[in-house]
Amino acid sequence: MQFSEFGLDPRLNKTIQHLGFSEATEIQARAIPAAMAGKDLLASSKTGSGKTLAYLLPAMQRMLKTRALSKRDARCLILTPTRELAKQVFAQLRLLIANTQTRACLITGGENFNDQSKLLRKEPQIIVATPGRLADHLSKRHLFLDGLELLILDEADRMLDLGFAEQLNSVDQAASHRKRQTLMFSATLDDAAINSFALKLLNEPERIAVGFSF
Ligand code: ADP
Ligand code: MG
Repeated sequence: MQFSEFGLDPRLNKTIQHLGFSEATEIQARAIPAAMAGKDLLASSKTGSGKTLAYLLPAMQRMLKTRALSKRDARCLILTPTRELAKQVFAQLRLLIANTQTRACLITGGENFNDQSKLLRKEPQIIVATPGRLADHLSKRHLFLDGLELLILDEADRMLDLGFAEQLNSVDQAASHRKRQTLMFSATLDDAAINSFALKLLNEPERIAVGFSF
């Protein structure tokens, strides 16, 4: 499947072209249409298979094509287990938001807390974050997630392994809009912890597993 077949905004297609990509990977070919159709996803595929664009493209499509549920609140939150991964995701996101009006920010541990609270006051529409620091700002009411439309958990299994269940739960509770869509990516889908978590956070998810033989 070609990226041009997804019906993405021309600005997104142009960025993909600039990156030199034309053919979607299998996880992208399956996850992008399902996510664009508004479904919750529980998806997995091996490292290096292009999961980042599999969620960033539908996320950006939504930012560009639909109106916000709330002007004040973040529209899309992407959580990753580590600072390094958050930075990598943010770098890809920056390419996609170039030439658009979308505001995004990166919120991870190891950076100045007050500087981050100022960034959050500028009402970013997309936030890429690690769960610990994000939960700290949430408890200080530096951001509101009532209007959150899209919650994305990248490497959800690793976030659970690192002990972030409590922080993920507080995000889930704060982001309780009935129209919220949730995309969960994990290296393993048969893990009990992942499944009980998925049951709580996801609503009738479509399960996508690429390259596994069950
Ligand atoms: P994963 O999260 O599954 O480990 P990434 O999203 O980090 O994978 O992507 C791995 C690499 O593949 C990145 O350098 C990315 O830019 C590149 N990539 C993603 N999608 C495609 C594609 N459709 N064609 C070629 N390269 C791609
Ligand atoms: Mg990844």
